[in-house]
Parts: sequence; C-alpha cells; structure tokens
Amino acid sequence: MSRETVDAGALLRRHGMQVTAQRLAVLRAVSDRSHSTADGIVRVVRAEIGAISCQAVYNALSALTEKGLVRRIQPAGSPARYEDRVGDNHHHLICRTCSRMVDVDCAVGNTPCLTAADDSGYEIDEAEVIYWGRCPECVAADLDPIESNSRHKEIARQEKNRRD
Ligand SMILES: [Zn+2]
Ligand SMILES: [Zn+2]
Repeated sequence: MSRETVDAGALLRRHGMQVTAQRLAVLRAVSDRSHSTADGIVRVVRAEIGAISCQAVYNALSALTEKGLVRRIQPAGSPARYEDRVGDNHHHLICRTCSRMVDVDCAVGNTPCLTAADDSGYEIDEAEVIYWGRCPECVAADLDPIESNSRHKEIARQEKNRRD
C-alpha cells in the first residue's frame, strides 16, 4: 500500500468509518479533482478501480460529507461539487460561462464572515459565499455568460412548475 493509501485509511478510521476500497478511491478522487461533481467523481473512480455503481459513489460521498471529511458545495442552479479542503470556511469563485470553480479565502483575515453584523441570537457555524462571474480564460476569449444565465432561468422555471 502506498503512503497516501495508508493516510487515507487512517483518516477514515479516525472518523469512525470502515475502510473500504470504494471509500478510499472516492476520497482520493475528491482530493485529486477538487470541486468535481458527483458524476465527475464517478468517472475518476471508475478509471481507477473499474466497475462501481453511481449509487455506490453517491453513498460514499454522502457518508464522507456527513463525517466531515469532504465538503459539499451546492451552487444555485448547478450540480453539487465536492472537495476535501474542510473546516476553514473558505469561499468559491464560479465562472458563469464554463462553470470552473476555484477557492478563495475569507474576505479579510480568519473567517470574519462568521461574525455576522447581526446574528439575531443564532449560533453561527458556517457562512457560504459564492462569487459569480467569468474566469480569466472566458474574459480573454470574451465568451458570453448569457447561455448559463438562461439555463439558470430554465431551472428556476422548472422548479416553479413543479411547485405549482
Ligand atoms: Zn470560464
Ligand atoms: Zn473549495
């Protein structure tokens, strides 16, 4: 076993999780391909360990998320993304054109966002900030974000129809 595998196994055990080849592969895929969608993780895991059902990958992702080894980010109108950088409440930049997502630290200093202007008596443990815009490549190529905007509207329309 490689050192990395041993470390990932120790990490699972420390969080009270049984070590399985599937969980190890999912954890490794999340850390290699930060901010991948569940379907992206399925592709990486299949390339590594062969046949595994989508459901098995989804189950591993939700168990890892529940135990706090993996963080799930749910941007409005797009599939959830997963990463292994947990516990620092960092934020994200998302390109409206190509959906590329990158990390950005808290606005100033160490998790200032957790200090709300008015907490209304809530005990706050997380602040989600997503900055939307265009990535440098899409700006350089002058690619329009309009298509993804209309996709967002389409999703909002479908959700509304389902409610009505
Ligand atoms: Zn882009
Ligand atoms: Zn991140």
